[in-house]
Amino acid sequence: MKNYADLIQKQRSFFSKGKTKDVSFRMEALGRLRTIIKEQEQDLMDSLKADLNKSEFDAYLTEIGIVLEEIRFTMKNLNKWAKPRKVKSTLAQVGSKSYIYPEPYGVALIIAPWNYPFQLAIAPLIGAIAAGNCAILKPSELTPRTSALLSKLISEHFPEEFIAVVEGGVETSTALLNEKVDYIFFTGSVPVGKMIMEVASKNLTPVTLELGGKSPCIVHEDANLKLTAKRIAWGKFMNAGQTCVAPDYIYAHSSIKEEFLKELKQAIQELYSGDPIAAGNFTKIVSDKHFKRLTKFLSNGTAVHGGRHDVSTLTIEPTVLKNITWEDEVMEDEIFGPILPVLEYEDLSKMISEVNARPKPLALYIFSESNAIQNEILNHISFGGGCINDTVFHLSSPYLPFGGVGESGIGAYHGKGSFDVFSHEKSILKQTTKFDLPFRYPTTKNALKKV
Ligand code: NAD
Repeated sequence: MKNYADLIQKQRSFFSKGKTKDVSFRMEALGRLRTIIKEQEQDLMDSLKADLNKSEFDAYLTEIGIVLEEIRFTMKNLNKWAKPRKVKSTLAQVGSKSYIYPEPYGVALIIAPWNYPFQLAIAPLIGAIAAGNCAILKPSELTPRTSALLSKLISEHFPEEFIAVVEGGVETSTALLNEKVDYIFFTGSVPVGKMIMEVASKNLTPVTLELGGKSPCIVHEDANLKLTAKRIAWGKFMNAGQTCVAPDYIYAHSSIKEEFLKELKQAIQELYSGDPIAAGNFTKIVSDKHFKRLTKFLSNGTAVHGGRHDVSTLTIEPTVLKNITWEDEVMEDEIFGPILPVLEYEDLSKMISEVNARPKPLALYIFSESNAIQNEILNHISFGGGCINDTVFHLSSPYLPFGGVGESGIGAYHGKGSFDVFSHEKSILKQTTKFDLPFRYPTTKNALKKV
């Protein structure tokens, strides 16, 4: 196993020189990152096509565009975020001033997954740079073209003592985790997330865990069914369902279920053509292993749409399954593919209990025209984040912290959240020497008695 102690030591000694604490250094680094991304846009799109058969439209919308917007937003606000913040002092502290100094942790390790191999590697890196850290990025081994391009771009434009990309799989990840770093930002599956936290606990290294889970999508009887179907089809089948916040399953009210399914079929046809496998522009399943795992689900329930798949291109067409119960295999774990099971409910509170009987989801979507129904669900189910009458879109806002709760993750980022994740808030009380209030000293008579 390779030893990364030298690399981490190099970054540690670069960090200790204090250069990254200079906000103009961070701004320059972010600006450079933006320029590289813009210059290499085509190469990035080609890599994403090679790794995942991602269309240029999807590559721009969900990877490159999102990251450029994150850089723009961060650079616009960084001067303000990086300044010490003055806060109130209490009456007992009269004469003093209180401040919060955001300060970088030092060396941050970012471990990224394959499903948005560019966005999910670079978005945390933006936060790490903005907050003034050095960073080591470990992209996924399952998207080798994008990981190799990331490595090339970063190594050509940044010194490794500041930012380094280390390519490799589990063994590389493990070797990196064996070393002491100052922060670990992990995006990936729940089981690996648990293991990361265990390893991090040895050095009490703080972690952010961006994990997954089964995200429900509730379609109530009063929903605008046509629009609901279109927005669900978009959020679910984008990237062939390999999106951490994709609707995992539908919970449809039994009174509108059949009508909704008709609309859903229609929407899928409109968005993804009659035969997306033949059309050749539908995102593929990342590996044989995942393809095999997913095709097993196709025998669950009854297919109301799709079901065709092609092993030579690792493609599965958008598929909707009905007559599904919680006992079906497809309902056991996060699906992470273009297969959408539909459950039905009659009683809202029973449905809420069913959702609450499972781990807290990363996302939840509510389709209803009624504020009362929306609030009923919001107030009774805990989940990372989500949308009302839409899917997935919440993650593209820099104003909304993005992360899970319970088993779907710890911590949240995007926008200022990314800066905060990679910053320690150092609290400072600056005391006056002009006077000295006597009441806190034990020598003061009746010090603790209220006057
Ligand atoms: P994964 O957990 O298998 O791998 C993620 C990263 O961890 C990769 O870089 C991989 O090399 C590394 N890794 C894998 N096994 C490891 C081990 N035993 N020790 C150390 N490192 C290891 O996840 P994945 O398959 O790449 O991604 C899919 C999962 O990620 C899904 O569960 C999905 O929901 C989740 N996800 C979450 C978000 C989010 O923002 N919350 C985003 C995307 C994906």
